[in-house]
Amino acid sequence: MLRDRIRGPLAAAAAVVAAAVVGGAQSPSPAPGWLDAYREPASRLVGAALADTAAWTRVAELTDTFGHRLAGSKGLEDAITWALAEMRQDGLENVRGEKVLVPHWVRGRETAEMVAPARHSLVMLGLGNSVGTPPAGIEAEAVVVRSFDELDARGAALKGKIVVYNVPWTGYGETVRYRSAGASRAAAYGAVGMLLRSVGQPGLRTPHTGALTYAPDQPRIPAAAIASEDADRLQRIQNRGETIVVRLMMEARMLPDAESANVIGEIVGRERPEEVVVLGCHLDSWDVGTGATDDGGGCIASWEAVRLMKKLGLRPRRTVRAVLFTNEENGLRGGLGYRDAHLAELANHVLMIETDGGVFRPLGFGFSGNDQARATVKAVASLLAGLGATRIGPSGGGADIGPSVQAGKVPSMSLDVDASLYFTIHHTPADTVDKIEPTDIARCVAALAVMGYVVADLPTRLGQ
Ligand SMILES: [Zn+2]
Repeated sequence: MLRDRIRGPLAAAAAVVAAAVVGGAQSPSPAPGWLDAYREPASRLVGAALADTAAWTRVAELTDTFGHRLAGSKGLEDAITWALAEMRQDGLENVRGEKVLVPHWVRGRETAEMVAPARHSLVMLGLGNSVGTPPAGIEAEAVVVRSFDELDARGAALKGKIVVYNVPWTGYGETVRYRSAGASRAAAYGAVGMLLRSVGQPGLRTPHTGALTYAPDQPRIPAAAIASEDADRLQRIQNRGETIVVRLMMEARMLPDAESANVIGEIVGRERPEEVVVLGCHLDSWDVGTGATDDGGGCIASWEAVRLMKKLGLRPRRTVRAVLFTNEENGLRGGLGYRDAHLAELANHVLMIETDGGVFRPLGFGFSGNDQARATVKAVASLLAGLGATRIGPSGGGADIGPSVQAGKVPSMSLDVDASLYFTIHHTPADTVDKIEPTDIARCVAALAVMGYVVADLPTRLGQ
């Protein structure tokens, strides 16, 4: 499906892009004088990022070796040990794991099957944090609804039923609330189980997992995602007036919290080491696929950006810190743990950048901060004209950096990429490294390295 990987011309492409960076003529408004000092280091960073396939190779090594990295798994802990050792080998400074306790949810075996009006298996994935069923499973009449309004309209008639939410994909924000809250909303009417049309762009009968959150005042019922094709089929059968019976079996269970760690590596600032620019991502993933796009690629790109600064001898005025947060997917404990461990230091966080939207072709950054800071990062982004990544969107941030950004009122940024494939593979068995182009992730590394380095080196602190 994706183009063949062309490694040879990367170096030539790097030369062209690096030349465009030095030229820097694409900026519509006159470039501020301070920017000139950064054209040379920016072009070196871009050139180094595009010179080889180091980033892609490292994502492949991470995901091939350790596989999925769900919180509490051996894969995640082994990946953390590996990342710490590799960062030290790269020459990053103050490399350390900062302890965090993470939830330990285990999927176990699981099946879903329509048993009436005919017997057909459903392609499913249990939702993260779901409870399991009794060992024999549950069997109940299924009722398909298209919205919470329809759920509420059926109300008490849902007692003892399995509710099937068949909500078409209209974007993540609008649709994900059915995954998060749907089980408890159905349980409030006495439902005994919940199935959900997968939250994502329709694929090839692909189920998408993801976390649910139980309301504290409702019974916890087992919940799973099914492929959109299966949800549509159940809908058609119901529309024909037939009664559907579904059997659901899930061994899912929550174990006691497990010990994990946020992985940190730095280049210590040469003038104001206490002031920090964070490049963040999350190292954990769902337990299907190998978490290459969500978010192994984001972690490797953030880490590579810092490694390149070190390799090129670029030590900025302020500290640049790569943070590979543990446990975003089903608990956000990495981001919460970082906030708590660094509370006193958050006022010295100059900027936090999150890369968790995939490492496809970069377009620029989303940014949240004051107008002065926005003008500055716009000027910095003009150095990325050769990459086509100059766009600064109206808001930026991310789940992992969110708690710190909120607590410390830290300016925040997210790498923006061409996301056309993202929600097709998001939280599915198809999230593997072959969906990532080496040139795309190399460009992401270049964009992150230039933005991170320049903001960390600015003569005046960002936004002041
Ligand atoms: Zn993610």
